[in-house]
Amino acid sequence: MRLRLLDLLACPSCRHFPLQLHIFEEVVEEVKAPGEPPLCELYCAYKGGKVGEVGETPCEECVKRDIVSGLLLCPSCGAWYPIIDSIPRMLPPGHPLRSDKQYREALERYADRLPGELRSRIFG
Ligand SMILES: [Zn+2]
Ligand SMILES: [Zn+2]
Repeated sequence: MRLRLLDLLACPSCRHFPLQLHIFEEVVEEVKAPGEPPLCELYCAYKGGKVGEVGETPCEECVKRDIVSGLLLCPSCGAWYPIIDSIPRMLPPGHPLRSDKQYREALERYADRLPGELRSRIFG
């Protein structure tokens, strides 16, 4: 998913905005689309803060960055959502189609890069 998506995503479980992001793998691609790309309007993940509170927002960077592997975290309810193969998996905790086991297996090799408390909460 593009980093810019953080400007649009709220927690499917409690509606909190914005979500926090831990990036495990990302690629930076030049955007070849004609015209101006849509830039962050509320929350700029590249600067890590609200537009208007973080100074200059070079949001071409948010549009260029594709998060291949990562973890989205809701600071309000604690729900976590993995990004696997560039796709954010946004099913809320407890949803019948959500597979925490499969998510853990996909992200296990990055577990060491999370802060201790978060790592043990997700990976046990
Ligand atoms: Zn931005
Ligand atoms: Zn939440």
